[in-house]
Amino acid sequence: MQSTNVLVLGGGPAGYVAALRTAQAGIATVLVERDNPGGTCLNIGCIPSKALIHAADEFHRLGAGGQAARLGIVASPPTLDLARLNEWKQGIVGQLTSGVRALLKRAGVKVINGDALVLDGKTVEVRSIDGDAGTSQRIICQHLVLASGSAPAELPMLRFGGKVISSTEALVPQSLPDSLIVVGAGYIGLELGMAYAKLGTRVTVVEAQDRILPAWDTALTRPVQRRLQALNIELLLDTRLVEGDADAGTLTLQPSEGESRQIQAERILVAVGRRPRSAESGIDRLMLDMDGPYIRVDEQCRTSMRNVWAIGDVTGEPMLAHRAMAQAEVAAAVIAGQRRRFEPQAIPAVCYTDPEVVVAGLLPEQAQAQAGDVLVASFPFAGNGRALTLDAADGFVRVVARRDDHRILGWQAVGPNVSELAAAFTQSIEMCARLDDVAGTVHAHPTLSEAIQEAALKAMGQGLHG
Ligand code: FAD
Ligand code: NAD
Repeated sequence: MQSTNVLVLGGGPAGYVAALRTAQAGIATVLVERDNPGGTCLNIGCIPSKALIHAADEFHRLGAGGQAARLGIVASPPTLDLARLNEWKQGIVGQLTSGVRALLKRAGVKVINGDALVLDGKTVEVRSIDGDAGTSQRIICQHLVLASGSAPAELPMLRFGGKVISSTEALVPQSLPDSLIVVGAGYIGLELGMAYAKLGTRVTVVEAQDRILPAWDTALTRPVQRRLQALNIELLLDTRLVEGDADAGTLTLQPSEGESRQIQAERILVAVGRRPRSAESGIDRLMLDMDGPYIRVDEQCRTSMRNVWAIGDVTGEPMLAHRAMAQAEVAAAVIAGQRRRFEPQAIPAVCYTDPEVVVAGLLPEQAQAQAGDVLVASFPFAGNGRALTLDAADGFVRVVARRDDHRILGWQAVGPNVSELAAAFTQSIEMCARLDDVAGTVHAHPTLSEAIQEAALKAMGQGLHG
């Protein structure tokens, strides 16, 4: 039996950041993780997916009909060494996860590689995985931080196995399938579906809703839909899955109008969301207050049980790494006796499709509903010199602001590398900037960020280049 002040269950972005911060504050901290530190994000999520997307972009650019040819660059058709690609990608994962391991060690966190089972709000049993395999130990803690994350959601009629894979398997392909069906046109379905198409796979995307990335408006996602078409990705919207055969790789589909049909592919990627790991590892024994499948927390990440905290995907949407890390900072600070709250004005969301999409703060419709009369203005990348020199001018930056005092409520963009605009968007919202704060800031030329200034000018009726 060991005892510690803080025990963190899960070493993903939520758990490792919380453990680092409590240990840095001089609090005895144990982190239990059954796999590599870094969680979904570093091992099987954000990082390997972005590496695969980048490699697919490079490959496609050089291929027949790729953008390089438009610029007068003609290479012999490129070939793909998939083993080397996987090695490069896993190398990045290894570099980052060993970095996290080193940070934890330097901060003095005791990391236990094992399977955690919560016995009660102060006691966790850990079954060792490495070293003394099969042995278990009990750890008593004053604070229990639940950061068990999430796992791919399964469809009852299409369980994982056979030809049916989740993002985890899709990220380390041992061979490239000739054909791939993607179920779900959300973040994962479109990011990975586009990457596979660029590597040469024939891709079909099936989506239950009547549009792609359904959380966002169609104006914002239209450039992505255009690109799906250009990549010859078949898009079946408003289509319900009736049944699936994982061994044969066939799906029976029912479109909202018309006859049902069957489609078949070498592999089927199911990307219909993620389920929080809130009903396993003994967490359900605590009988915590829940929000549906998620653990309910207050603005300090406290659960309904005293000194039991929850952070990251296990607490709900948006299930994003930067939200998980920001919650972790707050929970750790509160445990360390500081007064902190998790109350961001905006949590940016980026979808790494081609083109990329970024959303921070309120969409026009949400702003209208919350603030009444709002100003909305868009500036197209077709009028931005930098976008043209990148040969990627389909897209725009859009701003949403209050009409009465011009306070900025939201930003959206779709276009080349717009993920990098997320910081400017979020800072302006967090700092309660008004349109003229942004419009009056000198923006470097030629940069994509000039479209931010132009959108703000346009919202004030003072558009310069459009
Ligand atoms: P996790 O990262 O899931 O970590 C939880 C950890 O807890 C895991 O390591 C797990 O092994 C461990 N664990 C669980 N139970 C136990 C137990 N009983 N004992 C021991 N250990 C346990 N987000 C972004 O912001 N940007 C992106 O670009 C992005 N891309 C993504 C791409 C993909 C393909 C996927 C799947 C996700 C992506 N995400 C992205 C989401 C992001 O990965 C998650 O939001 C983030 O990892 C959540 O962090 P977490 O710490 O809450 O949970
Ligand atoms: P998602 O919620 O983004 O998209 C799921 C899609 O599947 C939705 O469009 C939904 O309408 C559709 N769908 C659901 N059931 C269906 C069915 N039976 N048939 C057809 N379509 C169906 O989920 P995801 O793509 O699995 O990603 C999971 C989470 O991981 C995301 O919500 C996000 O939090 C995180 N993530 C983030 C990033 C990023 O930040 N760039 C990238 C990947 C994943």
